[in-house]
Amino acid sequence: MASNPVDRLERYNPESSDGGVNPTISDSATFAFPTPDLLKAAFHDEAPGCFLYSRSSNATTRMLGGALAALEGSEAGHVTASGISAIAVTLLQLASAGNQIVASHTIYGGTWALLANLLPRFGIETRFVDTNDLDAVSEAITEDTAAIYCETLSNPMLRMPDLPALAELARKNDIALVVDNTFAPLLVSPLAHGADIVVHSLTKYINGASDCVAGAICADENFIASLGDVADGPAMLLGPVLDSLRAQSIYKNMGTLDVRMERHSRNAHYLAEKLAEREIRVTYPGLPSHPDHERYDQLSNKGVGYGGMLALDAGSAEAADDLARRLQAAEVGVLAVSLGYYRTLFSPSGSSTSSEIPPEMQNQMGLSPGLLRFSIGLDHDIEATWERFAGCLAGAGLLG
Ligand code: PLP
Repeated sequence: MASNPVDRLERYNPESSDGGVNPTISDSATFAFPTPDLLKAAFHDEAPGCFLYSRSSNATTRMLGGALAALEGSEAGHVTASGISAIAVTLLQLASAGNQIVASHTIYGGTWALLANLLPRFGIETRFVDTNDLDAVSEAITEDTAAIYCETLSNPMLRMPDLPALAELARKNDIALVVDNTFAPLLVSPLAHGADIVVHSLTKYINGASDCVAGAICADENFIASLGDVADGPAMLLGPVLDSLRAQSIYKNMGTLDVRMERHSRNAHYLAEKLAEREIRVTYPGLPSHPDHERYDQLSNKGVGYGGMLALDAGSAEAADDLARRLQAAEVGVLAVSLGYYRTLFSPSGSSTSSEIPPEMQNQMGLSPGLLRFSIGLDHDIEATWERFAGCLAGAGLLG
């Protein structure tokens, strides 16, 4: 297998049944079997090559799962109706009542809420720790721990944990390391650093059009098969199914992922440097001032840069709101949650995508009320964007 995810994706060429350049879309909920015996066998996963029912998979969702597996270098991939359902079914497969998850304390607010509020109702507790502190992770692991959970670049603090060291801890304790790679597709390959399972929100960079919600799980064949087990697989029984038409459109957008990631990275890096020069408190993994800059250089794939996400601290919630209004009026971007769109998106994390996290925990992770998170777009003239951006900073009184 090629070691570079861009090469792996380029060589992933599913066939179409009519010679079309795009694979044929599977447009069926259910599938005909030539014999009753084969139909019965399919219920025991003993009918290779046959599709049974699209809640499990069909040729199109399987094809997209294969593309995700190629991206992450996993044996298999399964796509879901959202990133959060990919995370939920993964954790429900790994953990049962009485188990515990050790999770990073700086993660997407929805994931935090799933772990802190919903899973405890099913007997699964989470201990939130700073996953950049290996001693804290090690101390949090007990004999009931089922998994370590973190994000490659955490939302919204953009911290990067020591993935090989976390993988080693997971191996020693015979538990799984699950990494959400939503912020860093192509940039970092967590499985190559020892992670067991990668989850994605395809809603973001991988699709790149902000026109749908979708997710994926990349892991070994056994784990992926277990998710779809007709008797007890959480993907099969909770049913977060991605429609074929969407799966196909996401697949087509993946063809430009490397070009988009390069441009997102280049633009974000340019703006981060400009912001740092003007002494704005900016967080970006490509800046030497970022606490995980060296680690990023060690663990990232070469040639795609440091990603499109950056955060700046405007000093207070009011100042962040004022700046956001100015940026939107100056068409620097759009005040909206989410990321990976071709236009710049920004939102005040503490009161939006991280609002599920209590203020004292936000404080603990360094998430200040003035933090504005940016997903920098594909602007063709980023210098002109910076001129408008600087004008907004000046108008908000943020330039010294
Ligand atoms: N993971 C991260 C890092 C996210 O930022 C998000 C959503 O913002 C999710 C997962 C959830 O993805 P979705 O909205 O596709 O369910």
